Amino acid sequence: MSLRAEVDRDACMSSGKCVADAPQAFEFDDDEIARTVGGARSLDRGRLIAVARNCPAEAIAVFDDDDAIDLD
Ligand code: SF4
Repeated sequence: MSLRAEVDRDACMSSGKCVADAPQAFEFDDDEIARTVGGARSLDRGRLIAVARNCPAEAIAVFDDDDAIDLD
């Protein structure tokens, strides 16, 4: 089953890392805050977790059904 991601708008510092790493799954909104494209479900599990871990603001949460995945 694929995972889905959510970006915490208040935590995102607009580094652009997720957008650069996975432009098919993350994009900037008009305020240059990242958001997912369709929950970033186009990424496989390992890739999505890697992108989330690389967020310098820890602003990307990853969910399996309704449960948040521990990214540590
Ligand atoms: S990597 Fe994190 S801080 Fe950078 S744009 Fe994406 S969500 Fe925002």
